[in-house]
Amino acid sequence: MLRIENNENFETCKRCGGQCCKNCAGIYHPDEILKLPDHIIKQMFESKLLAVDTWDGDPRDEYEEDKELYRVYYFRPRHKNEDHIVSESWGGECVHLTETGCSLAFKDRPYQCRALIPGEERCTWEPECEKRFVSVLYIPHQDKIEELIKPYKQAIEA
Ligand code: SF4
Ligand code: SF4
Repeated sequence: MLRIENNENFETCKRCGGQCCKNCAGIYHPDEILKLPDHIIKQMFESKLLAVDTWDGDPRDEYEEDKELYRVYYFRPRHKNEDHIVSESWGGECVHLTETGCSLAFKDRPYQCRALIPGEERCTWEPECEKRFVSVLYIPHQDKIEELIKPYKQAIEA
């Protein structure tokens, strides 16, 4: 996982009003969630803090020969007013967003949230933190995630 120093910029984010967090919650690195015991992950699901979303298709390079996946599950915080734990969301406002910004300490925020560097003109991140690349990191963990979401699979049918 890319090592990311605290890059918070309260003034810039305050002026922006948290557009990133209003559009879609950032994606966790798989290790940030899968290092936790299963019962804690389930508690996070049931407390409406954690959701499973999907990369639609195979996120690996289009020229890789063994492309065979039609979706890849990944973890992100739940969106406000989201009905399901397993979701094919087109976006929403993160549950952790408050009137004064993110309620999580910087170190506890998802990988993608920590990687996004606020900027006046535009915000930037390293290519390896983009959704496609983070989704690739989840490929070895699909069976484990399938097992975790089995009781909650309302939105997506296998
Ligand atoms: S990181 Fe960028 S998009 Fe997100 S709140 Fe800050 S300035 Fe706005
Ligand atoms: S966890 Fe915090 S920084 Fe990340 S999307 Fe949610 S409110 Fe924004």
